[in-house]
Amino acid sequence: VEKTPNKKGQAVMTQDQTLFIGIDLGGTNIKGGLVDREGKIVSENTVPTGASEPAGHTLGKMTSLIEALMESAGGKVAGVGIGAAGQVDHEKGVFIEGPNVPNWKNVPVAREIQKAINRPVVLDNDAHVAALGEYAYGAGRGAAAMLMVTLGTGVGGGVVLDGRLYRGINNTAGEFGHTTIQHDGPVCACGRRGCVEAFIGTQGILRRAREKMMLDRNSVLHGIPPNEMEPRHVGEAAEKGDPAAQAVLRDIGEFLGAGVANVVNLLNIEKAVIGGGVSNAGEWIFESARERLAKDALTVPRGTVRLVRASLGNLAGIVGAAKLAMEAV
Ligand SMILES: [Zn+2]
Repeated sequence: VEKTPNKKGQAVMTQDQTLFIGIDLGGTNIKGGLVDREGKIVSENTVPTGASEPAGHTLGKMTSLIEALMESAGGKVAGVGIGAAGQVDHEKGVFIEGPNVPNWKNVPVAREIQKAINRPVVLDNDAHVAALGEYAYGAGRGAAAMLMVTLGTGVGGGVVLDGRLYRGINNTAGEFGHTTIQHDGPVCACGRRGCVEAFIGTQGILRRAREKMMLDRNSVLHGIPPNEMEPRHVGEAAEKGDPAAQAVLRDIGEFLGAGVANVVNLLNIEKAVIGGGVSNAGEWIFESARERLAKDALTVPRGTVRLVRASLGNLAGIVGAAKLAMEAV
């Protein structure tokens, strides 16, 4: 990893500076927290992102948020980590582009903030950050090798091998959502066919829900206006005992399990940690995912792998970003 002279200078000071700042850049809010080495959030704060404003404005707000947190820590902050959805040049600290902040193109986030606060600043994508957080402080703790899957509009992924986030040669490793489980399957947001995300990302879930509803005229899903339907409606309907909704979630689990089995066979991971909104949709997803995994994974690695629910919830962004900073300083 290339380090700037500034980073090297700061690294000397880390012994007695024990707090880190984690920043989660979302489309609506920028969430920031002061985090200690045990992953405990000491204090946190939120400011609106203002996603439609020029990049400089949002960057300024983020800098002010960081400065306020630093002040409350009395100068004990050793570094800042930032997680954001999208493509990130981790080594250079440049945000290339992403869905939450459409006006950001090739923004040198780390350099700009570092200039203002005189502390090391590191940047990575939200999926990598979530993997780091769950590995260090959540459901992945202690795993020799782990896959993190974040279910949402897209399907994020991150791989931890031998205790370290595996980034690949361009920081793009872990794109579980764009591994293929059916080469002639439905079209994915990436333009290819049959990716995991095409089945279990938001659009995939809603497509499945429409199909299952058509076969069940009594499904409570018919009560939701078609253009207002979200995956959480499917979860709620399943909770109420709706067979069509339960079938959708079981299918989602099966696709998830098939994708995870590929990773298990390739990397012999100890844990697959599943997070994101849809992962709250009861046991239907997990049960069928585990069944599929048991069928598709090879005998030896399936005997040791565990598919578990993430435990940090939406704090993974702050805590994982702080861990990113800890690893860098
Ligand atoms: Zn794809």
